[in-house]
Amino acid sequence: MESDKILSGKKVADEIRTEVAHEVSELAGRGVTPRLDVVLIGDDPASKVYVGSKARACDRLGMVSHTHRLPADVAREEALDLVKALNADPEVDGILVQLPLPPSLDTHEILDAVDPAKDVDGFHPVNVGLLQQGRPRLVPCTPSGIMELLRRKGIAVEGRRAVVVGRSDIVGKPMAMLLLHAHATVTVCHSRTRDLAAVTRQAEILIVAAGRRALIGADHVAEGAVVVDVGMHRVTVAEEVEQLFPGDEGRRRRFEEKGSVLTGDVDFTRVLPRAARITPVPGGVGPLTIARLMANTVAAARQRRGV
Ligand code: NAP
Repeated sequence: MESDKILSGKKVADEIRTEVAHEVSELAGRGVTPRLDVVLIGDDPASKVYVGSKARACDRLGMVSHTHRLPADVAREEALDLVKALNADPEVDGILVQLPLPPSLDTHEILDAVDPAKDVDGFHPVNVGLLQQGRPRLVPCTPSGIMELLRRKGIAVEGRRAVVVGRSDIVGKPMAMLLLHAHATVTVCHSRTRDLAAVTRQAEILIVAAGRRALIGADHVAEGAVVVDVGMHRVTVAEEVEQLFPGDEGRRRRFEEKGSVLTGDVDFTRVLPRAARITPVPGGVGPLTIARLMANTVAAARQRRGV
């Protein structure tokens, strides 16, 4: 049945959140309440939405969250001073600098200033290096969420051919590293890859994080592959919704209600018949990312406080 193919991230995210909630109440018994501090610089509307969701997720799980807002034209020193103050504050367990930063700031400089022990995004070079060496401490949330999805859905990784489309520091590279450590044979593709479809057709597990709407069509996917779509795009034109999801009444209705629908880097409608399993957008990878952020915050609290 087609619906058995769908890899829903929602249920797995619920499982992770339930586990985190247990850990939070256990820590509360020891007088510890994990705390996440988010630094939001500028007024990117999408970033504001993401930061709001992260704060709400903390509240729901009984954790503390603080959001620190700085204007887009903040001086470099002021941004660095805030990060340093959070590093020094013993009550703060996790620090997340919401990306993208305004172009006037050097992203590497700001992220490098975060205490690696509080780096719940796993972007600090120390945490990147630890992951590379196969002794992960705090791992980026989206790729670690995908590994949880594969594990909890019983999808074997060891010995299989995995292809990752995208080589960003946030998704593609850590994803490839996690798959490699789980003993997959991993290929990473990017914008200069020649004949992308020939490479992706080799994949038994195909992870797509390219930020290009419907980049991956039926010709890119081998029969029986597991397909994970990280991409997220808002479609605001009715003809495009119909082209992407012909005859899909649910999407059409959602489009009429909201004026847009979400879609991914994979042409879901055309790839679905070929794939053995496939994540939807929305409801696939998205919910896992925030759930893993909560798990990382608890892990950081435990590691740093030795509880
Ligand atoms: P990114 O930093 O823009 O990286 C995109 C990567 O894809 C780059 O490595 C780029 O190659 C590669 N690429 C671009 N066009 C390509 C093409 N035509 N063929 C092959 N490779 C191509 O993006 P990102 O931060 O990794 O995010 C990727 C997507 O995932 C975005 O849609 C983003 O919104 C989404 N996302 C979702 C979540 C979630 O929680 N659901 C979390 C993070 C990201 P080059 O290196 O050669 O430029």
